[in-house]
Amino acid sequence: MSHIHDQELLMGTDSPLQDNILITQVDKLVNWTRRSSVWPMTFGLACCAIEMMATGASTYDIDRFGSGPFRATPRQADLMIVAGTVSHKMAPRVKRLFDQMPEPKFVIAMGACTVSGGPYIKHGYHVLKGVDRIIPVDVYVPGCPPRPEALLEGLFRIQEKMQRERLLDRTRVGVRPKLLVE
Ligand code: SF4
Repeated sequence: MSHIHDQELLMGTDSPLQDNILITQVDKLVNWTRRSSVWPMTFGLACCAIEMMATGASTYDIDRFGSGPFRATPRQADLMIVAGTVSHKMAPRVKRLFDQMPEPKFVIAMGACTVSGGPYIKHGYHVLKGVDRIIPVDVYVPGCPPRPEALLEGLFRIQEKMQRERLLDRTRVGVRPKLLVE
């Protein structure tokens, strides 16, 4: 715990401030607050959404990890969980809602349909073969459907990415795929 050692050097071991001041980096503090209060956007498209709802319900209780408040507007959300089949008709709406979310924002592709087209990959002429064709995906959660434990694991991976963010590094923002619907 080097910061405690630093405090002792600065204030001496008898200082009343010794146990009340923490020294850290702005990046670490901001990232800690962000990863401790992830607000996903309500975004269920098909059967996978039922598992997403189960993740928020009492048995799995996503609130334990600071990620409970599903928002009904993209402007208050920093995580999009795309849960279900993305049809070509829905794809432009997915893209628009993603664009309306403020930075920094993250995406989980939940379920085989969202990851690659799933059971529709061969004959589903109406289904987008992977949501990463229109928005950048940070974490893929495979399965048909994935269980709530798998979605929670995906959330943990997102929180790890949030912890590595740099406030002044905007490279993620500059790398956005263009709208491409087959
Ligand atoms: S991956 Fe399976 S459970 Fe999920 S939306 Fe597609 S068909 Fe439904």
